[in-house]
Amino acid sequence: MDLSIVIPLYNEEESLPELSAWIQKVMQENNFSYEVIMIDDGSTDDSWKVIEQLRISNPNIKGIKFQRNYGKSAALNEGFKAAQGEVVITMDADMQDSPDEIPELRRMIIEDGFDIVSGWKKKRYDNTLTKNIPSKLFNAAARRSSKIKLHDFNCGLKSYKSKVIKSIEIYGEMHRYIPILAKWAGFRKIGEKVVEHRARKYGITKFGWERFINGFLDLGSIMFVGKFGKRPMHFFGLWGTLCFLAGFLILLYLTISKFFFDQSGLTQRPLFFVAILVMIIGSQLFLAGFIGELIARNSPERNSYLIEETTGL
Ligand code: UDP
Ligand code: MG
Repeated sequence: MDLSIVIPLYNEEESLPELSAWIQKVMQENNFSYEVIMIDDGSTDDSWKVIEQLRISNPNIKGIKFQRNYGKSAALNEGFKAAQGEVVITMDADMQDSPDEIPELRRMIIEDGFDIVSGWKKKRYDNTLTKNIPSKLFNAAARRSSKIKLHDFNCGLKSYKSKVIKSIEIYGEMHRYIPILAKWAGFRKIGEKVVEHRARKYGITKFGWERFINGFLDLGSIMFVGKFGKRPMHFFGLWGTLCFLAGFLILLYLTISKFFFDQSGLTQRPLFFVAILVMIIGSQLFLAGFIGELIARNSPERNSYLIEETTGL
């Protein structure tokens, strides 16, 4: 199968018929064999009925219905598990992404050899204050910490080599960082294509202001887990040792100066308390490192590495 198109949706009943008709048109023009996987993320409107209806006239449309709203990441994760196509496209259901971009996104994977091609909504039709400006900040932070040169990490329209989505797991609100997760997994050919963005035609946005706080917190945990997830002691141990040493040296200095330069009692000097505090923090960090190691050792992920190729096996 040439293409799997994965579409997470939450209360988008009005858009679905138009969107699927448009996709079908593009697929037929290009003679692609394809499937459309629509994941109904616990919609409370008639989205699921619409999907069942659409499937009657076009059996390439498949549906997964969640019992409740789990979020876009969960929906994408389930869609990725089910996808059978050689190239997998994700897009939003609200028709802000144009299906006309699909053939070129696929070509860049197949012919140019990219692992991921991310859409870039260069000209964006969303609210400037609540979306465009915060998203610039957010993208700059993600770019700096991950060293991936993308302008628009969170664009819903992306294409992937099948192997990429089969080897990463997304949960929480990690859908914003799929390129970073993929890079950690070893897929480094990440490209970008300017895509047409359109104003939302029906319904309202499903993401409020909380997404910025959550977004930054998730960025922190992703960077940490990616770097130290399999060796927590290298982080906690280093800082723990440094803190402890600093405290120890201060104490040493205080003790020496008391005995040799006849200073008054140790506890009279504020520095004494700083030294004790720093030593305690240091040993706490160290302990956290040990506990982290114990957890990592028991985790089923401790030895999961991706094998790119084998020969003679
Ligand atoms: N979505 C989802 N689950 C959620 C929230 C959103 O599946 O809990 C879907 C939504 O239906 C849409 C896509 O994710 O297809 C992007 O959401 P939206 O258009 O509201 O985000 P925005 O474009 O405003 O950033
Ligand atoms: Mg949208």
